Amino acid sequence: MPPTTRDSSIQLIINILRDAGEPISNQRFDDEVRRILGDSYKQSQHIRISNLRTALRSVGVVSHPRRGLWGLMPGAEERIADLEGVNIWAEHIRLRDAKRSEEAAEPQDSASMLELTRKLVETWGPPGYEHRIRDIIRDEVADLADDISVDGLGNLICRVGSGGPKVLMAAHMDEIGLMANYQEPESGYLRFTNLGGLMTNTLNGNRVQFEDGTVGVIAVQNGGGKALGDFFIDVQEGSGGNATPVGQPAGFMREMQVRGGRIIAKSLDDRIGCVVAIETMRRLGRQTPNELYFAFTVQEEVGLRGAKTAAQGVKPDIGIAIDVTGSGDQIRGRKMLVKLGGGAAIKVHDPGLIVPLAIKNWMIERCEADGIPYQLELLAGGTTDASAIQMADAGVPSGCISIPTRYLHTTSETVDIGDVEACIDLLTGLLANDIKI
Ligand SMILES: [Zn+2]
Repeated sequence: MPPTTRDSSIQLIINILRDAGEPISNQRFDDEVRRILGDSYKQSQHIRISNLRTALRSVGVVSHPRRGLWGLMPGAEERIADLEGVNIWAEHIRLRDAKRSEEAAEPQDSASMLELTRKLVETWGPPGYEHRIRDIIRDEVADLADDISVDGLGNLICRVGSGGPKVLMAAHMDEIGLMANYQEPESGYLRFTNLGGLMTNTLNGNRVQFEDGTVGVIAVQNGGGKALGDFFIDVQEGSGGNATPVGQPAGFMREMQVRGGRIIAKSLDDRIGCVVAIETMRRLGRQTPNELYFAFTVQEEVGLRGAKTAAQGVKPDIGIAIDVTGSGDQIRGRKMLVKLGGGAAIKVHDPGLIVPLAIKNWMIERCEADGIPYQLELLAGGTTDASAIQMADAGVPSGCISIPTRYLHTTSETVDIGDVEACIDLLTGLLANDIKI
């Protein structure tokens, strides 16, 4: 017979936990059961009791506050009274199946997040030429904001809510790229300058695409490879001419790939930050007690230019950048504690930003309250839009939520999907609640 709440084993579990007065370990729990049952204790009873404990957990009587610890839920006595006569097993199975079908629906969410990520990383948009990205994002957020505008520099600014503290989020739309600035008179090969932090050891053999669609191959001249001037771009058509003139900007080409829980792509810096911002807007559904400005900024890679004008325009009370950060979990990686799969990275310091204690604690407390995995970020090189926002007007307390990333500024940047989810959870939690800073 499946047990009901009147079952004596259930009463046994409840009595043990009530007498303990605090959560107890699996081991201590088993010892108590053995002590009470004495000689009549059998292994089969133990298994049955352990299953009952799980069933009681799923119907909200017993809690599992930390791995291996058990206690009574607050209000357990009333819950037990509610369950009087209910078949605990049937209820447990009903709730478990409901949870499973809810989880089965989740991949849909993460599939749509991946598709959005793919669309954004594979779309062309070097600094100063973010219009294609802006168009995609504007479509995505059309129903998620109360007001959408584009400022004079090209930032897309989306307001959600009004009246509360003004919070400015910044995720940058641009990606590192280059611009052809000289054509060799005899060969026709193009020389170029960087738009953002190009690393020379990633260039040879890489492909770029110019605004007019021309594909170029970057190559290195014999004996070179240390300086940008050692490289050239081949855009020859084979009939004596070049497919594109100088003055054209270019971005790198590479398809996104998913390997288990990892995303590998170019331009995750910072299109994945844009994804975090968009998904947060989706989850908020325009409900917030605060006045939020989601800025999708331009020209971050060439000196945080978009964030400067966005902050001057919005005049926020608080700033939050959403951007990638490095990780220290590679072979001979840098000395950095951030790792992939470790959760949202809450910035503490980088060369452009010392995060105010109140902002850092606000984020940590949110993670603790909501059970969001997080890690603290101390970045030795580089900075984000937050360092520009903090300097606007008379100063804006600012922080940064970072997505841990390997192989930054290469065409194979790598992030962990769980970390991205944690960043979305954290930002949503911060913005959906009253802010007291
Ligand atoms: Zn970035």
